[in-house]
Amino acid sequence: MSGSGSSVTLAQLRAWLQEFARVVVENEAYLTELDSAIGDADHGANMCRGMAAAAPIAADETVAAAKDLFTKVGMKLVSTVGGASGPLYGTFFLRLGAAVGDVADISPAALAVGLRAGAEGIVARGKAVLGDKTMVDVWLPALDALDAALAAGQPLTHALAEMTAAADTARDATAPLQARKGRASYLGERSVGHLDPGATSSALLIAAAARTVG
Ligand code: ADP
Ligand code: MG
Repeated sequence: MSGSGSSVTLAQLRAWLQEFARVVVENEAYLTELDSAIGDADHGANMCRGMAAAAPIAADETVAAAKDLFTKVGMKLVSTVGGASGPLYGTFFLRLGAAVGDVADISPAALAVGLRAGAEGIVARGKAVLGDKTMVDVWLPALDALDAALAAGQPLTHALAEMTAAADTARDATAPLQARKGRASYLGERSVGHLDPGATSSALLIAAAARTVG
């Protein structure tokens, strides 16, 4: 546990990525089941393939700066994950890397700014707005919760726990929505009543941060 003023170490950022790689394997069948309801049943496989390719980067101790770590992971996701989620998660990590800079440890505020830049990259790339039933529906409210908690002086551990709670609520709130972006939008009204797969994997990425960072 550390206060919001203490830094997030490169080792913690590595652990976050490794934890996400583990969690997507644990949830592969679930993510696939969600994507089979409103997509093409490949989101679990896509995320597992991408994070299996990215995990060695997270374990590589010669990667000595947060910027390098996230940039390499982003490039790996773009090149290994087919489908919409590859470029979207890839852009997220590329923007996060560009924002955190060439340092090993980053402040909680820099992490929040970097995550926001990553989410803005998803929006720029996919052109989804809040309520389109995509991963954007999780990222924006979750980041608002993180910013609010840090602004209130909460330690990063608590702020990330609040971010995770907001992400889980936002993920659940995608179920009643009709998809307006991505493959699920082809289903029209039939997309209603199902959780969005990418919103679900994004909530897993945020929860992984709360367990490893802070
Ligand atoms: P594909 O849809 O190409 O099969 P995946 O199944 O891996 O790719 O990922 C689907 C997820 O990608 C969706 O559940 C949604 O969250 C996200 N997604 C799709 N299109 C967009 C978009 N334009 N903007 C943001 N997220 C999107
Ligand atoms: Mg799919």
